[in-house]
Amino acid sequence: MERLVVGASLAGLRAVQSARRSGFTGRITLIGAEEHVPYDRPPLSKSFLDTGHDGSPSSFHSEDELREQFGVELRLGAPAEALDTAAREVRVADRAVPYDGLIIATGATPRALPGAGAIAGVHQLRTLEDAVAIRSALESSARTVVVGAGFIGSEVASAARKRGLPVTLVEASDLPLSAALGRDVGAVCADLHRTHGTDLRLGRTVTGIESNHGAVTGVRLDDGTVLSADLVVAGIGVTPATTWLGDCGLRLHEHDGGVLCDSTLWAGAPGVYAAGDVAHAVNPLFDDDLMRLEHWTTAAEQAAVAARHALDPAAATPHAPVPYFWSDWYGHRIQFAGTARADEVRVISQAQQGLLALYRRGHRLAGALTVDRPGDIMKFRRRIAGRDDWAEALAFARRRGPAPV
Ligand code: FAD
Repeated sequence: MERLVVGASLAGLRAVQSARRSGFTGRITLIGAEEHVPYDRPPLSKSFLDTGHDGSPSSFHSEDELREQFGVELRLGAPAEALDTAAREVRVADRAVPYDGLIIATGATPRALPGAGAIAGVHQLRTLEDAVAIRSALESSARTVVVGAGFIGSEVASAARKRGLPVTLVEASDLPLSAALGRDVGAVCADLHRTHGTDLRLGRTVTGIESNHGAVTGVRLDDGTVLSADLVVAGIGVTPATTWLGDCGLRLHEHDGGVLCDSTLWAGAPGVYAAGDVAHAVNPLFDDDLMRLEHWTTAAEQAAVAARHALDPAAATPHAPVPYFWSDWYGHRIQFAGTARADEVRVISQAQQGLLALYRRGHRLAGALTVDRPGDIMKFRRRIAGRDDWAEALAFARRRGPAPV
C-alpha cells in the first residue's frame, strides 16, 4: 500500500499525521515544491515581520522527526509535474511515483501585481523567502505601500506600524473586507487602520509601478497620485496551485481552477482526495455550499479527514465543518466562525474593542465575528455547528453582554 501526499505544508503534514494516527503502517511519500520541511505560514505576516520575533522560521517538525516519528519519505524541492489517475501515478522529476491513495494539498499561489515584473522591492507574501525579503526591507525602514486591505495586507500594514514606519494601504473597494464580512464590520476594520496611523486609501486601484534602475520607487493610483515606496506588498488574493494537474481528468473550478470535491473531500478519481487552500468542498452544514477557504484550521481539519477517507473510502462520511479563522491587527484579534454568505449581519456590540457581529441565514445562525472576544468565538462556533436558531443565538449574544469577556 502506497500513500502519496503532494504539497508539503500544513495540509500535507496533517494528512501524514492522520494516516499514521489511523494505524496506517505502509509507505507514505510527501512531495513538496519548496525546499523546506512544512512550516507555519500565519506567523510570516505577524511576529516574523514585526519586532518581537527572533527571526527563525517556524517549522512544525525537523526532517529527522518527519522521517523517524512519522516514517515519511520526503521529496522536497521537487514539484509534482503531472497526475495520471488511470495509472495511479504522479510524475516528479521524470519519475513516476505510484499511489493507492493520493492527497492533493498543493495550496495556492499569490497573485502578482500587474506590471510589477521583476521590479526589486515588490513582493507578495506566501513563503518564508517572501517574508524574509519583506522583513529585511522593513528593517531598512522602508516606506511601505500595501496593495489590498484583506487579512494578509492588513497584517503587513500592522507590522510596519508596529515598527513605527509609514505605511499606506490601498484598497479598491470603499470599505475593507466589506464584500466578505459586511459593511459594519468593514467600517470597524477601516477604523482599526486609521486609529493606528495607517494611511488608508479606499476606492483606489493601482495603475502602475514606478521604478528606477530596476528598484521600486513608487505606486501610481487611478486618480494620478504617486505614492513613494521602497517596499510594495501585494495582498490581492491567491490562485489554487493546480497547473500541475493539467488535463488529468479531475474536475477543476471554472473560475479559479481549484480541485472540486464532494463532501467527503473525494476529488472524483479512485483514491484521490484534496484538502486545504487548493480544495473546493461541498459543506452539508451550509446548504451544500461549495467552499474553498484559505484558513489554517480548515486546511488542518480537511487534511485529517481526507487522509482517513483515502485509507478506507468505503467508510467515508460527509465532512461538515464550521469554518474558522483568526487575524491579528495592531494588537487586536479578529476571529470568525461559520460563513458570511448570509441574509443579515447583526452587530451586537459596536465598540471597536469587544465587537461581536452575528450572521443570519434563513432562520439560523450562520456565522459570528468577534474582535478581542476570544472567550466567545468558540461558543458561537459550537452553536453554528448545532444549527442554532437565530432568535436563540441573539438571546445568547445579548446575555454575553457588550464588554470583552
Ligand atoms: P499551503 O500552505 O499553500 O501549502 C501548499 C504547499 O504545496 C506549498 O508548500 C507549495 O509550495 C506546495 N506545492 C504547490 N504546488 C506543488 C506541486 N506541484 N508539487 C509539490 N508541492 C507543491 N489562516 C488563518 O486562519 N489565520 C491566519 O492568521 C493566517 N495567516 C496567514 C498568513 C500568511 C502570510 C499566509 C500566507 C497564510 C495565512 N493563513 C492564515 C492561511 C493558512 O496559512 C493557509 O490556509 C494554510 O497554509 C493552507 O495550507 P495548505 O497546506 O492547504 O496550503
